[in-house]
Amino acid sequence: MKTIAILGGGFTGLTAAYRLAQKGYKVTIYEKGDSVGGLASGFEISGNNLEKAYHHIFKTDTDIIAITNELGIQDKLQWHDSSVSIYRKGKLYPFITPIDLIKFSPLSIFSRIRAGLVVLYLQKSSNWKNLQEQTAAQWMRRWSGRQVYNVIWKPLLLGKFDKFYDKISMAWLWARVHIRANSKQKGDSKEKLGYYKGGFIQVVNALENKLKGLGADITLNAAVDSIKTTHNKTEIKVNNQQYKFDAVLSTLPSNVFAKLIKEDSKKIKEYVSKLDSINYIGAVLNVFSYPESLSEYYWHNINDTSFPFLVFIQHTNLVGTKDYNNHHIYYIGTYVPHDHKYFSSNDKEIKDEWYSYLKRIFKDFEPEKIIENNIFKFKFAQHIVDTEYQNKIPDYKTPLKNVYLSNFSQIYPEDRGTNYAVREGNKIAEIIDKDLQLAE
Ligand SMILES: Cc1cc2nc3c(=O)[nH]c(=O)nc-3n(C[C@H](O)[C@H](O)[C@H](O)COP(=O)(O)OP(=O)(O)OC[C@H]3O[C@@H](n4cnc5c(N)ncnc54)[C@H](O)[C@@H]3O)c2cc1C
Repeated sequence: MKTIAILGGGFTGLTAAYRLAQKGYKVTIYEKGDSVGGLASGFEISGNNLEKAYHHIFKTDTDIIAITNELGIQDKLQWHDSSVSIYRKGKLYPFITPIDLIKFSPLSIFSRIRAGLVVLYLQKSSNWKNLQEQTAAQWMRRWSGRQVYNVIWKPLLLGKFDKFYDKISMAWLWARVHIRANSKQKGDSKEKLGYYKGGFIQVVNALENKLKGLGADITLNAAVDSIKTTHNKTEIKVNNQQYKFDAVLSTLPSNVFAKLIKEDSKKIKEYVSKLDSINYIGAVLNVFSYPESLSEYYWHNINDTSFPFLVFIQHTNLVGTKDYNNHHIYYIGTYVPHDHKYFSSNDKEIKDEWYSYLKRIFKDFEPEKIIENNIFKFKFAQHIVDTEYQNKIPDYKTPLKNVYLSNFSQIYPEDRGTNYAVREGNKIAEIIDKDLQLAE
C-alpha cells in the first residue's frame, strides 16, 4: 500500500486525505495545531461550537454543498436570510436591497446611480482577465468616481488588505462582486447564507470519522520542520522524528512550505523565491457572548477608516440564539500585516481599544456585561492578490519528486473559502492518484 503524508489539517488537507484514503492509499495527516479545521476551526462558546473566525457559505458554493450531502450531514446545513449594513460617520445604513443603495445618503444621487451601474456591470461581465493588471483602487476610482471609491471601496480594501490596499488586483474585486451576485437564487427576496447547525465542526467531524474508518491517521501538535527527497521516497521531519512516504502533499501557506524545503539546487532556489513572492496578511478576531441584542443586522461593514476594525458581526442575527443558551454572539474582526502591534499586544489591549470604538456605534454597549470573551489571531489568513498575481501562482506539482502543493494561494481569481478548499482537495487527490498509478 502506497503511503501519503498530508501537511496541514484544514479543509484542503482533510478533503484531499479523504479522497486519497478512499482510493486505497495509507494517509497520514500532520497538523501543527491541537485540532483540525485550520482557519475554519472552532471553539466552545455559550454551549456550542463556533468558528474562531466568522464563517458562512453561499448558494454558489457547490463543492462544499456536495461533500456535505455525501457525508450525510445535509440536515445540518441550514439557510438563513442575510442582512448587511454599512456604518459611516455615526450611522448604520441598511445595505440589503437595491433600494437601500438608492437611499444611501453618504453618496450624492449621481454617485448612487454610478455605484449601482458599476456593480451591475461587474455582476454581468465575465471579462475578468482584462482586469488582472489594474488595481482595484485605480479601476474603481475611474469607473465609480472618487466619492464612491472613498465611501465604499477604499474602506473595504483598507480593512481587508491594510498597507497593501492599493496593490490589489481588480480581478480579485471582480470575483467578489460577480460570484456574490449569483448567490441569490430566483424567488429569494434576500440573499441566503448557509451555516451548519452546531458549527463548521460538523463537516470536520464527519471527515475525521470517515478518515478513521478508512484507516487514515491524524497526528495533532505535529509541526512539520523539513522536507527532502531521498532515493524514491520523501522524508519529512516532525517533532525531531523522520518519516518516509511515497508522496507528500503540503496544504500549508506557500511561504511556510518554502521554509521546509531543505534542498538548494538552482531550480529549487528559483521555486522557493517564487513561493516567497506571495505575501500574506493576518486576521485578528474578538468573539464574545452578551446578554442583549445590539443590532438588527447580521453583518456590519465599518466604512470608517478611523476605526481599528473592518467588520462587526452579530452571528445570532443570522442563526438565532437558541443554540447558544439564548446569548447573543458577536465577532469583531480585522486584517493586519504581520508587523502590526496586534500580533504583540495582549488580549486586553485589543479588547479595550475595540470596545471604545464599538461604543460609538452602539451607545448602550457595556463591556462589563460580556459573558464569554476570546481573542484569536491567525498569521496566514489571506494572501495578497496584487496585479502580478497571475504570474506568482505556484503549480500543484513542486520540483521535488512526488511532493505536491495545494493551498488557497492557488485559488484565483475567486477569494479563498472553505468551498474552494474542498474543490482543491478533490482536485489534488486526482492529480496525485494519477501520478502514483503512472509510476507503477
Ligand atoms: C477572518 C476569516 C473569515 C473567513 N470567512 C469565511 C467564510 O465566511 N466562508 C468560507 O467558506 N471561508 C471563510 N474563510 C476562509 C476559510 O477559512 C479558508 O479558505 C479555509 O479554511 C482554508 O483551508 P485550508 O485547508 O486551505 O487552509 P488552512 O485552514 O490554513 O489549513 C492549513 C493548516 O496547516 C497547518 N499548519 C501550518 N503550518 C504547519 C506545519 N509546519 N506543519 C503542520 N501543519 C501546519 C495549520 O495549523 C492549518 O490547520 C475565512 C477566513 C478568515 C481568516
